[in-house]
Amino acid sequence: MHGGAGTILKAQMNSEKESLYTNALKEAVLVGEAILLNDGYAVDAVEAVVKQLEDNPLFNAGKGSVFTHEGKNEMDASIMDGRTLKAGAVSSVMHIRNPVTLARAVMEHTEHVFLSGSGAVDFARSMGLKLEPDEYFFVQYRYDQLKKARESDTIVLDHTAIKDIDEKKFGTVGAVALDVYGNLAAATSTGGMTNKKHGRIGDSPIIGAGTYANNNTCAISCTGHGEFFIRSVVAYDISCLMEYKGLSLKAACDYVVKDKLVKLGGEGGLIAIDKEGNIQMPYNTEGMYRASKTNNEDLVIGIY
Ligand code: ASP
Repeated sequence: MHGGAGTILKAQMNSEKESLYTNALKEAVLVGEAILLNDGYAVDAVEAVVKQLEDNPLFNAGKGSVFTHEGKNEMDASIMDGRTLKAGAVSSVMHIRNPVTLARAVMEHTEHVFLSGSGAVDFARSMGLKLEPDEYFFVQYRYDQLKKARESDTIVLDHTAIKDIDEKKFGTVGAVALDVYGNLAAATSTGGMTNKKHGRIGDSPIIGAGTYANNNTCAISCTGHGEFFIRSVVAYDISCLMEYKGLSLKAACDYVVKDKLVKLGGEGGLIAIDKEGNIQMPYNTEGMYRASKTNNEDLVIGIY
């Protein structure tokens, strides 16, 4: 799982902050692990992990989502099941407590893949999903981030260092999993970018860009400068390099994240798992909040 990539510098961390992150990452991984150890499905595990992170104001998703230019919280999320190649996604949704669960409902209870805005929220209501008032999403430092970004008229990626205001760089969240049946799944959720305008949508809810899963290849969840991830069709590109060119997960990830994206100027990273259970968590930024666990490896937690 990941909690966002970006300018995360050890020099700007203190041990208290670091343990806040690492505890949150650890708790989320354990939620997913418990499901998988009980022979649960990969798709259930990724939804549960992302949901847990959406409820944590540390991360830019769900409760901790960043503010738009107008001072709203508009969220994007997606989920994909590698067994069926079914997918669900939502963009620009407000008041939804767990956008990833809404994305899953789109996948399972509609004939569509991608719903947006008020239509998606109406659908959430009809499914009885949890909605929250504006106050639930109000996090003071996020609002301060917006004020600063507005003053300088910049559109700010959550993970980009901004002098004075960006002490807390928390990012988009995502999870990938392989279950005992050999199924792969991926999910991603985000508040997007601080001060985003004009209904901007990033890569996170776009199947093939920010999220992808296919039992024949891999499951991927991305974080970074969404525009570049959309243009590079990052998640699907990695799957294709494995499927059509026979690359290993590592070779495909390294090529896309450390070569192709870098050449284009796209900062970020991703988490990936293949059908054999190999895990890769590459990034081309200073850091990426990340954690992993397999049945034969101890918990891995990383930031820098
Ligand atoms: N990829 C997300 C977006 O562009 C941002 C992030 O990963 O932090 O909306």
